[in-house]
Amino acid sequence: MSLKGKTAIITGSNSGIGLGVARELARAGADVVLNSFTDRDEDHALAAALGSEFGVNARYIKADMSKGEECRALVTQAGRCDILVNNAGIQHVAPVDQFPVEKWDAIIAINLSSAFHTTAAALPMMRKVGWGRVVNIASAHGLTASPFKSAYIAAKHGVVGLTKTVALETAEEPITCNAICPGYVLTPLVEAQIPDQMKVHNMDRETVIREVMLTRQPSKQFATVEQLGGTTVFLCSEAAAQITGTTISVDGGWTAL
Ligand code: NAD
Repeated sequence: MSLKGKTAIITGSNSGIGLGVARELARAGADVVLNSFTDRDEDHALAAALGSEFGVNARYIKADMSKGEECRALVTQAGRCDILVNNAGIQHVAPVDQFPVEKWDAIIAINLSSAFHTTAAALPMMRKVGWGRVVNIASAHGLTASPFKSAYIAAKHGVVGLTKTVALETAEEPITCNAICPGYVLTPLVEAQIPDQMKVHNMDRETVIREVMLTRQPSKQFATVEQLGGTTVFLCSEAAAQITGTTISVDGGWTAL
């Protein structure tokens, strides 16, 4: 499956799922634009390494996805966008009545509003070349809920709603918009929430992994970033040209329960 000649922008892609998705898109031949809110040598080195490993054009562009104008500037600066993967995301775990307002605002901005801004900036570019794919990394928490993650769950449900709306608005064009809903993937984001989960559930690390996280996943395994990258490449393929406005769960059976 070749994506040669396509340019993919992946938000929040200097670690975890975003980096895994960027790798699989580059492996399929796409030029890739990596992004995060930092501007370190290692961010640019990451892109350079991907470029030389897969023989594609790979760049890193700093843009803070909590700021609407920077989301739009990322797309403008990239200059071309055939594939947009809205992946940047953060998480916070706390009961609703103790949820810090600034965390709520940041989660909604980075996990949901950023996808609105980047999509709004990318659609005219896709229309110009007559082809486009928007892939939103939502979550099993975009389809189901669990306690203590109100902002994240509200944002991810919002991403699923945005996905369906963009799909309907582009339905007659050669552009698709879909969401991938991962279950648990052991990335830095999940590692960072384990201590909070230990606190709110009063459990040790292994029990949180077994009883809180993987208990939701009938496969009893974490999904991998390579599997999420592979699903993204599939959604960018011609085989998926009539798949739009839907969610694909990569969750070991979580949402079948
Ligand atoms: P991660 O922490 O490894 O990656 C998050 C990425 O977002 C990083 O590259 C980080 O630099 C970037 N980011 C954070 N704030 C940003 C900002 N203000 N501007 C630009 N970039 C920013 O976590 P991950 O698990 O790889 O998460 C990636 C996406 O997958 C998120 O949207 C997350 O909600 C979703 N997801 C993850 C899991 C999981 O189990 N790991 C499950 C379902 C959905």
